[in-house]
Amino acid sequence: AIFEYAPAPESRDVVTLRSSYGLFINGEFVEGSGKPFKTVNPATEETLAEVAAATSDDVDRAVQAARKAFGVWSALPGSERAKYLFRIARIIQERARELAVLESLDNGKPIRESRDVDLPLVAAHFFYYAGWADKLQYAGFGRTGQGAPKPLGVAGQVIPWNFPLLMLAWKIAPALACGNTVVLKPAETTPLTALLFADICRQAELPPGVVNIVTGAGDTGAAVVAHPDVDKVAFTGSTEVGRIIARAVAGTGKKLTLELGGKAANIVFDDAAIDQAVEGVVNGIFFNQGHVCCAGSRLLVQESIHDELLDALKRRLATLRVGDPLDKNTDVGAINSAEQLAKIRRLSEIGESEGAERWSPACELPAKGFWFPPTLFTGVAQSHTVAREEIFGPVLSVLTFRTPAEAVEKANNTPYGLSAGVWTEKGSRILWMAERLRAGVVWANTFNKFDPASPFGGYKESGFGREGGLHGLEAYLDV
Ligand code: NAD
Repeated sequence: AIFEYAPAPESRDVVTLRSSYGLFINGEFVEGSGKPFKTVNPATEETLAEVAAATSDDVDRAVQAARKAFGVWSALPGSERAKYLFRIARIIQERARELAVLESLDNGKPIRESRDVDLPLVAAHFFYYAGWADKLQYAGFGRTGQGAPKPLGVAGQVIPWNFPLLMLAWKIAPALACGNTVVLKPAETTPLTALLFADICRQAELPPGVVNIVTGAGDTGAAVVAHPDVDKVAFTGSTEVGRIIARAVAGTGKKLTLELGGKAANIVFDDAAIDQAVEGVVNGIFFNQGHVCCAGSRLLVQESIHDELLDALKRRLATLRVGDPLDKNTDVGAINSAEQLAKIRRLSEIGESEGAERWSPACELPAKGFWFPPTLFTGVAQSHTVAREEIFGPVLSVLTFRTPAEAVEKANNTPYGLSAGVWTEKGSRILWMAERLRAGVVWANTFNKFDPASPFGGYKESGFGREGGLHGLEAYLDV
């Protein structure tokens, strides 16, 4: 059960917050040259800490440290690198309570999710890629010796705020397993668990410079991407910033992977097990407040069961508990930032003004903090903004279809292509749909299931490259 380590319920006392945090460069916490910024608890608006902002000079120091460490790290036998990664994975398990509580404090996600989903997956990623570190030569990547695959060098990695530690794990674990060193920039609203991870690297006695964490806003990310001594750029975030990064990297010879936005369809056929489908639809969009790139934000329901499914869905939504992220009974936590809340509100208002019908269960929201109730839009047309734009919040748009072909056409009618869900008892229909859906992941009778062994990534404007599994290694190797 090493992947299912789930300690008991939490109080914030398990976290010792410092009033200010530095950058992590060459194995040391150091001051940044930029103006420090505050990170707040989105559930209360209380300032959690001041965090250093890295300028391009600081980023340069981090990249130099990573370059120097690359010589040492890449020369280690894979079995030695594996030991460090296994050690990190075990420390993550040992410190899982602290990490989970800090994640919920900084991000706003329910403790039940950070404790039972994020943290076990974070540890699992390090265990999984630790297992690859000594096997790369035999895994179909080429011969040993001269023909063996080579690490790329210094990886510059920029990640979003929705799964701060999990996105860090997706980036750092495969990069290190392959022999690369990294400079990672966490999102400005959720820097704290990345800095706790830096502390874990020290505890694991990882050689200095192998992992460097530079905190700051978009300009810090841009400096990482633009640094001439970075060999590989890995980005997860919005399609808008992904475009900027693709342009910045074009023609530099740097390798690039992009994991971007989504507008996934969760498709429910009339033969589906309705209760199970309702659970899947709810999990698909209200898990992590809908701050999920692969969220099932469009429900496509077969016309004949529309009313029945909507009734069941509304009854289920009325039972969702919105509130304190540290309460283990909470289902829906806080919206990560005032900016994100404003975006969700703006898109929801557009939804109403374009003629879709808005519905939320009666629910009392805390007075302080950033909150948005679980929300449904029915009577949505494909042309509506709420059917097209990524809202990245707890908002579900409901559309209907009559035939499987129409479901495929509507599901694919989006510039994105990250994920999709199909709910039906017919196995042949699942295969027929999966073949035609333009989505990196198609879940059948389930949703939001992740496994470190399984590749994840998008089609179209959802990005390119795969993270996870064997294919996740390809992004960090020259073959
Ligand atoms: P964002 O693009 O605004 O920011 C992501 C990161 O990029 C942050 O660290 C930010 O500081 C940095 N950044 C901003 N401007 C930059 C620039 N010009 N150059 C370099 N870095 C820059 O995204 P966000 O709001 O943090 O996250 C939400 C988005 O992430 C959503 O669109 C979501 O779908 C996407 N996402 C995708 C996946 C995936 O695997 N496909 C996973 C999680 C989130």
